[in-house]
Amino acid sequence: MSHDNNGVLSHSEPTIVSREGWNARPPKYIEKMQNPVPFVVIHHSYIPAACYNLEDCKTAMQWMQDFHQNNRSWADIGYSFAVGSDGRAYEGRGWSRVGAHAPTYNTKSIGICIIGDWREELPPEKQLTTVQQLITKGIREGYIMNDYKLVGHKQVREGTECPGDRLFKEIKNWPNYCQDPSAPNNIKIVAEDTQIDDNRLKRKT
Ligand SMILES: [Zn+2]
Repeated sequence: MSHDNNGVLSHSEPTIVSREGWNARPPKYIEKMQNPVPFVVIHHSYIPAACYNLEDCKTAMQWMQDFHQNNRSWADIGYSFAVGSDGRAYEGRGWSRVGAHAPTYNTKSIGICIIGDWREELPPEKQLTTVQQLITKGIREGYIMNDYKLVGHKQVREGTECPGDRLFKEIKNWPNYCQDPSAPNNIKIVAEDTQIDDNRLKRKT
């Protein structure tokens, strides 16, 4: 049970499509993450564009996994989860594996990609509701700290527009939004994360 955010109820279970459900390839390797984590990092995909049905969202997941594994040589799709405009959540690395989505935060956060380009438009309400439900589930099941801090990617990574201006404005109103994630009371950064120098998507994702 949880927040009533802008009239959006988030008490019900999110529908999660497993890796098998979107035909994920196996990860190249697995690094276990310690739960519960103190941060949730919100992303947009920028590319691929928003997907509105299961088939298109599966294709989007496969595209991101290909891009992350092949072009960026990461172990797996970078995000912990992604959420489509179809209202489904899609399992990426899941709750307990270190992701590759926000260097220096990968070992202590769940990274959620809201699939689409949200610089100017807001995602559909059901997509945002699913993100909230996913966070609530993570807390309830002990993967995310009760007093977690919610941040947009751009707050923890210089030179990115992610998660897009319009979406970023929205998440500033969400529960547990943290204005200053680097404040001294926060957990110090662990240096073992992947430090990838992004290429063409650097400013957008
Ligand atoms: Zn991002």
